[in-house]
Amino acid sequence: MRHSLRARLSLTILLAVLLVIALVSVFANLVINRQFEAYIEAQETARSRNIAADLSGQWDGSTGAWNLEYIHALGMYSLYDGYILKIYDSDGDIIWDAENHDMSLCGQIMSEITVRMDIAKKSGDFTAHTFELEHGGQRLGAVVINYYGPYFYSETDFRFIKALNTILVYIGIAAAAVAVGAGLFLARRITRPLAKTAEAARRISKGDYAARLENETDTRELSDLVSAINYLSEALAEQEKLRQRLTADVAHELRTPLTSVGAHLDAMIEGLWQPTKERLQSCREEVLRLGSLVNDLARLAKADSDSSRLNLAPVDLLEVVRNVAPAWEAAASQRGVKLTVGGAPVAALADKDRLAQVVTNLLSNAVKYTPADGHIEVSVHRGAGIGVIEVSDDGVGIPESDLPFIFERFYRADKSRGRGTGGAGIGLAIVKSIVAAHGGAVAAASEGGKGSRFTVTLPEA
Ligand code: ADP
Repeated sequence: MRHSLRARLSLTILLAVLLVIALVSVFANLVINRQFEAYIEAQETARSRNIAADLSGQWDGSTGAWNLEYIHALGMYSLYDGYILKIYDSDGDIIWDAENHDMSLCGQIMSEITVRMDIAKKSGDFTAHTFELEHGGQRLGAVVINYYGPYFYSETDFRFIKALNTILVYIGIAAAAVAVGAGLFLARRITRPLAKTAEAARRISKGDYAARLENETDTRELSDLVSAINYLSEALAEQEKLRQRLTADVAHELRTPLTSVGAHLDAMIEGLWQPTKERLQSCREEVLRLGSLVNDLARLAKADSDSSRLNLAPVDLLEVVRNVAPAWEAAASQRGVKLTVGGAPVAALADKDRLAQVVTNLLSNAVKYTPADGHIEVSVHRGAGIGVIEVSDDGVGIPESDLPFIFERFYRADKSRGRGTGGAGIGLAIVKSIVAAHGGAVAAASEGGKGSRFTVTLPEA
């Protein structure tokens, strides 16, 4: 069962908040109650002592009589506060007794206190505490104070405790409401961009590569996700464009030789042309060119698919060049071109065979485009964290207007020259594909159309 992020977030925050409130309530009650109870107990003991001291002051030694009026007032006053007094003189005779005085009021006050303490879930009972009454070392009598022990809540204490609990409940309700609100708000902020991203991904999967997302969220992970989706649709759009161009290029490349062969054969079938050996030879050459084009295409497809699974290992770039160069030295010298290899060993993380293919393609071009008496130089050296292979020649060079395009598939700086040498404009595309898969770069330079220099850089091992 899948829940929405909104429900899940709100619920989690709500549960967390409720747990915190419950914990706070329990601890607050425990701590506050304990402190409060100790405080009240101390208050009540002090009050009892005060009553006894107060009563002791009501004996008039000169007349030998008690101030009964005051004692009555004190007794009633204490009774309303929950202290039931019974006062004896030194002979043990009762001077004043709350229960005798107003039995029903005593009962009422006692039951009120019992009910209050029952509600507060505190157990206790009315117990009598006896205090001696004395003045100047003379024993005057005693007072028995009966009150609910070990402590009891007065009306105000009880209201205070109740208010505290009510406040905690209100705080709980308010915090729960805030939690749900915050959860909903947070979920909305997260789910909106997520839903939009999912929608964009759906559109992209249906081929709408123009789908782009506004990066309006300020959450880093969501922003990263939006960027990734945008990047994905850009990359797919780029791939789609490449695919379309490749198809168009292939069609274009195939059409020219096919039209030529077709026209020649038509003319021969219709008897306009004699099928001479030269004409048939020319047709065969076109067919061979088509074959080599198809081979080039297969090589390119292989280079692209192989690039995704490179056999990386530390490789000495100079060694790779030294292994490839001899095969081209012979071809170069046949054309009267001198090929030299120089530089220092540099270790790079690379696929040896793929890298040999790169050097082969660059050397094949150099030999192809350098006329007699020319020079080709391959050098290897180290840059800042990179290994560099440089292939330079003093051949025909590349016009400046063509330089930016020579690494593209089927691009030939000079169409007629390209055809003449049999190239289909794929060699450099393969070089670029392999070097890019290694995380490196390749660049071409040609000064005034005189000679060319190709620079391959690869991350050092
Ligand atoms: P091709 O099969 O035509 O050689 P490439 O992709 O290898 O295809 O090269 C693309 C084009 O770049 C070539 O047609 C050529 O015009 C130009 N080029 C490549 N290397 C050189 C070079 N060393 N000197 C002059 N031009 C070059």
